[in-house]
Amino acid sequence: MENYRYLSASNYFKIKYGKSFQRLPIDAGFFCPGRCIYCSASGSLSPVQASLLSNIIAKENLYNFRYNIGERKNLIKLQVDEYFKRNQNILRFYENGLKRKKLLYIYFQAFTNTYDKTENLAEIYDYALSLADFDGIFLGTRPDCLLDDVVNLLFKYSKKYDIWIELGLQTIHDRTLNYINRMHDKKSFQIAVEKLQKNNIKVIAHVILGLLDETAEENIETIKFISNLSINGVKFHNLYIMKNTEILKYYERGIQKVLSYEDYIDRLSQCIKYLKSDIAIFRLFSDFEPGTIAPVWDINKTLLIKKFEKNLEQLNINQGMI
Ligand code: SF4
Repeated sequence: MENYRYLSASNYFKIKYGKSFQRLPIDAGFFCPGRCIYCSASGSLSPVQASLLSNIIAKENLYNFRYNIGERKNLIKLQVDEYFKRNQNILRFYENGLKRKKLLYIYFQAFTNTYDKTENLAEIYDYALSLADFDGIFLGTRPDCLLDDVVNLLFKYSKKYDIWIELGLQTIHDRTLNYINRMHDKKSFQIAVEKLQKNNIKVIAHVILGLLDETAEENIETIKFISNLSINGVKFHNLYIMKNTEILKYYERGIQKVLSYEDYIDRLSQCIKYLKSDIAIFRLFSDFEPGTIAPVWDINKTLLIKKFEKNLEQLNINQGMI
């Protein structure tokens, strides 16, 4: 394994599992109990998947209501079929029973994927898992939507599948949590992490840099907090402002600013110093969605990552060095 200054998710998988991984992201028709002020209509589904979805379902039908179980299963099947159609190389691996080079996960990405009755959750998870030879599940949710019966259900799946929960925190600072309408505090995040870890479920924390008037020092406090919990991964996001979101109002009034990519890289690099060295980084930069108002970064993601890595090199920063 080559030397690295930070632990990327792909290196983490190579070390822990001996192979890389692939995720098939879906919108399984869930709701959220509230609306974070920065969240897009697609409920944080990846832009690629959101565009794929809007090609198969009229947008007005997709987000104005959520479906009954039968319709949700159809929605999931459409997305899985479409994904394999677009990724023929992966399909061949699985259909022909060739020796797999990658682990394949179904990724419940959009909205809050534990916010339903447990019998509905089980029916949806079982159905999605039946559509291909999946090795595990990635599942996006919130700390306040992990009641004991849901965690017990996930524990049952963990006996057969590798289970990862993507858990939104964003920041530990209460004034910011109130501002973005998260409806939970850092303590509930900590309780959720402890519960999941006890039940053999891995956790990825989501963090946003640049919310409200948070300084780099405040971002670092969030990273120190998650580093002291037994999480397995983190996703960093740079805040961006989408049309039709609540946060746009605050941006227009000058209450919410956005970071330049140079400033973001600088903050991210500082955060990396404090991130425990065995926590895998699943994301360094957000994927800008169509309809992004700000910031306008005239640079592609590959170049951003190169600049970030060069910055670590120049400043001699390694993950977890402090
Ligand atoms: S919990 Fe996630 S998906 Fe739901 S509104 Fe907040 S950011 Fe969006």
